[in-house]
Amino acid sequence: MTTARKSTALRLTAWGTPPRLVDLEVPVPQGTEVLIAVEAAGICHSDLHVIDADAGKMPYSVPFTLGHEVAGHVVAVGPAATGIEIGTRVAVYGPWGCGRCRRCAVGHDNYCDRRSELAWSGAGLGRDGGMADHLLVPAPRHLVPIGDLDATQAAPLTDAGLTPYHAIAGLSGKLREGTTVAVIGVGGLGHLAVQILRAVTPSRVLAVDIREDALELAHLSGADMTTLTKPDTSEVLRAATGGTGVDAVFDFVGSDATLALGARTLRAGGDLVVLGSAAGRLTISKPGPLPPGAALSLPFWGTRPELHNVIALAQAGSLRVETELFSLSAAGEALRRLRAGRIRGRAVLVP
Ligand SMILES: [Zn+2]
Ligand SMILES: [Zn+2]
Repeated sequence: MTTARKSTALRLTAWGTPPRLVDLEVPVPQGTEVLIAVEAAGICHSDLHVIDADAGKMPYSVPFTLGHEVAGHVVAVGPAATGIEIGTRVAVYGPWGCGRCRRCAVGHDNYCDRRSELAWSGAGLGRDGGMADHLLVPAPRHLVPIGDLDATQAAPLTDAGLTPYHAIAGLSGKLREGTTVAVIGVGGLGHLAVQILRAVTPSRVLAVDIREDALELAHLSGADMTTLTKPDTSEVLRAATGGTGVDAVFDFVGSDATLALGARTLRAGGDLVVLGSAAGRLTISKPGPLPPGAALSLPFWGTRPELHNVIALAQAGSLRVETELFSLSAAGEALRRLRAGRIRGRAVLVP
């Protein structure tokens, strides 16, 4: 553990420029820190938002290593890092908070009370992330053991699995027998949303996308009905519910068009859950585009206890991430394909 080595990392070095592969010294964990040898790191649409951001748009400072969906094994621990063994294979809970507030104390770092004061949102989002040979994790509490689960499955589950799980868990009392939900956007998160809905709710699942192959993936993931986005999609979806509208919409795009579609498709008293970060706008007024009794939520990532549940679902065989694998040196190609909408499921880097 003491030999000086190099670690290759995909780093954002200046705003408005593409990320670069850089050789760094392998970090030595201090205090409660834990050093992970990365086995897999997922690429997320939000990585594109970060890469494309102009200076001053994100609450982060460059340089930092990208990558917020990470799995690997522990190779070194700081002197104050307790409760974790060298060699343990882990998924990394990515939305690192302040570590001191009540939310962080119960593993709800995604809603850290000091979130607005932090210069990061988590691993790879203002702090060095896992698109690298190594990742330094601030504390063992961010690590969830994965046993022998494939790292290329475990890594995307930490966001592409956790984020929809958190959103679905938020409606757990509502999604009873006889309910119908719509999933808009069947990419990395959306195809796992369909599988999680299948696994933990009795709801019928309708899936919507602009791409035929995404609908095929939705079908393989267990959707009851799939439909291409067209001008009459809200009528198609309403017709599938006998005209009442769906009980919940999970919007994994979040554009003007999908927000409007969700609002038009929702049943009275339904839930519009916006997960996609396309910065679309929807007017909130009463009366307005949303039906009476509608609830709107903007969930962000998920909690650490929920990540344990997601990993358990995968270990039980209820979740299967559709992945395309790339070497770390091919990250540029993977990002180009993601940008062009040509990744099926999740792109995952394998250092
Ligand atoms: Zn993400
Ligand atoms: Zn906190």
